[in-house]
Amino acid sequence: MIIESCRLCPRECGRRRDEKEGSGFCGASAAVRVARIAPHYGEEPCISGKRGSGAIFFSHCVMRCLFCQNYNISHNGFGKELTPEQLAEKYKMLEAMGVHNINLVNGTHYIPQIRQSLLLYKPSIPIVFNCGGYERAQSLKMLRGLVDVYLPDFKYADDSLALEYSQVKNYRNTAIDAIKEMISQTGKPVFDEDEMILRGTVIRHLVLPAATKNSIEVLRIIKNVFSDNALISLMAQYTPCHGALTHKKLCRKITKREYQKVLDAMFELELDGYAQELESSGDEFIPDFDLTGV
Ligand code: SF4
Repeated sequence: MIIESCRLCPRECGRRRDEKEGSGFCGASAAVRVARIAPHYGEEPCISGKRGSGAIFFSHCVMRCLFCQNYNISHNGFGKELTPEQLAEKYKMLEAMGVHNINLVNGTHYIPQIRQSLLLYKPSIPIVFNCGGYERAQSLKMLRGLVDVYLPDFKYADDSLALEYSQVKNYRNTAIDAIKEMISQTGKPVFDEDEMILRGTVIRHLVLPAATKNSIEVLRIIKNVFSDNALISLMAQYTPCHGALTHKKLCRKITKREYQKVLDAMFELELDGYAQELESSGDEFIPDFDLTGV
């Protein structure tokens, strides 16, 4: 596959991507790169369950979050190339391991290749598209009928934070449009008898230090725009790493008081979903990106 002028993500940088290299912001060539394929137990209970979620971690990223915990794969592009045919075989491999779903982590810049692989083989377990909320609605349409569950972040209501922390412009409205498209594809959340999600959209929000105003505004947007059509997953696991270690605001974990303030807003707004325990903060959720399963 050659992409002559890539406009897949909201950056629309229009750069060429061939099988060998890519000169766009994300740095991804047209060949899919993957850093790890294995059952993962660190997602929400309705995704990880008892048998784990079959996670496929894609290399490169369209964002540049200062606090990224996976920067060796997202920023440096560490990984191994897989064809859509090989990717389809990996779905079969994970399915045979008995995982609850196939969890495509950070594949925004590989949407056409993911589509191709899912057309080759659509597993009988749900396909989860796990992403940063910085997607083009137009590109997501390629996944209609192929993805069962969307798991987007909604990181920022405050666009100035988005620009400073993740190098993206217009994040707020881009995420709103992207999540609208996701919900239009999945409908309201549907669960099986074991409370595992079969279809639907779960919106994640990671509370950042010194940013409770941003978090509460994100929750208000979710309530006002998406109402009960999606679930919320409030995350407390922020841990400074990479560029955040020397940043004046991002260099610490969130406090109990900060998290409680956001939790109170979630309950006041009567948002349905999950809220992580504050004790969850730490790096125990970060798997080894060592080409396991690739
Ligand atoms: S996916 Fe990569 S190359 Fe394509 S528009 Fe986005 S940043 Fe540019």
